[in-house]
Amino acid sequence: MTADPTGRLPQAVGLKALDAAGIEQLMLSLGQPRFRAGQVVRWVHGRGVRSYAQMTDVPAPLRERLVDTLPLPFPEIIERQVSADGTRKYLVRLADGASVECVGLPSSDRLTVCFSTQAGCAMGCSFCATGASGLVRSLGAGEMVDQVRLVAEDYGERVTNAVAMGQGEPFANYEAVLGALRLMNSPDGLGIGARHLTVSTCGLIAGVNRLASEPEQFTLAVSLHSAVQATRNSLMPGVSGTPLPALREALIGYAQATGRRPSLEYALVAGVNDSDEELDALVHFCHGMLVHVNLIPINQVDGTGYRRSESSRLRVFADRLNASGTEASVRAERGADIDAACGQLRQRAEG
Ligand code: SAH
Ligand code: SF4
Repeated sequence: MTADPTGRLPQAVGLKALDAAGIEQLMLSLGQPRFRAGQVVRWVHGRGVRSYAQMTDVPAPLRERLVDTLPLPFPEIIERQVSADGTRKYLVRLADGASVECVGLPSSDRLTVCFSTQAGCAMGCSFCATGASGLVRSLGAGEMVDQVRLVAEDYGERVTNAVAMGQGEPFANYEAVLGALRLMNSPDGLGIGARHLTVSTCGLIAGVNRLASEPEQFTLAVSLHSAVQATRNSLMPGVSGTPLPALREALIGYAQATGRRPSLEYALVAGVNDSDEELDALVHFCHGMLVHVNLIPINQVDGTGYRRSESSRLRVFADRLNASGTEASVRAERGADIDAACGQLRQRAEG
């Protein structure tokens, strides 16, 4: 794994462009022993220091060299919204001025962070506020870990779960996302259990297959939104080249290879993907697969013209799926009063 797999991250991202393997390469290239990398990871991602000067067990000449060559940025909160249900949504500015969103979702025994993997997104889903503005750039591994830390610090609590469900398509930035998950998982980093780390994808098959072969037990969620090809193509033009049977095969392969059950995200849009015909197709798609279906009402985004389905319709979908042997649940909506839909806060802040 290289320090910056895209080779295109802005200079200002500095050390936050790197994952643990990248930090190790950096230390070796500076003539340092391998264990130095572990020290730096523990300072930066385990303890969250904001300056090299705080790394007291790192030799002073090395610290000075790092100060001169590699920025150590931390995201800055530019907007923070607090929901009545405790959800907090942040718009943060990264080192080069790009902005992304992250969200804290507390519950009685958990604190879940939803983080972004890219600024913007190239996939162009028609219901998504992020998709409307295109891709700005991919994030470095450290920039993803920083979002989780920022939320932990704001709540003053340990984060128990993290999901790559903010802006961006994680599998369009695969190396950095895996590097970030590893740093979140590592006892040197945030120490979050692998099963409590989830990647949500619009369904890039190469990424699904690749994740299936990783040693860690990270959790996979796939945004399906329709099991009718034409409907899915219009909702998710970025994956219109992916035939649904091929996606289904990849998910079956994933479950077989890992023994883990992926979840399918399905946001109901009135008159678009909530008909009986759509439900039949969904039941058929899931039949014989090890999956869990999460049904959610679409978050209405200005300008899309989409309306959410009645909650009774979500229940009909859940009941039919459960009766057919596929586990399905209606997911509670969080932060409805704070521009909670993906990309909405950024859209509003930027006018
Ligand atoms: N790009 C990845 C992860 C980020 S999007 C993906 O698409 O899976 C996170 C989730 O939010 C996805 O399931 C996506 O389909 C969903 N989403 C985006 N806009 C939404 C909206 N307006 N209402 C409900 N869900 C939305
Ligand atoms: Fe990108 Fe996901 Fe939004 Fe689609 S839903 S545009 S893949 S962030």
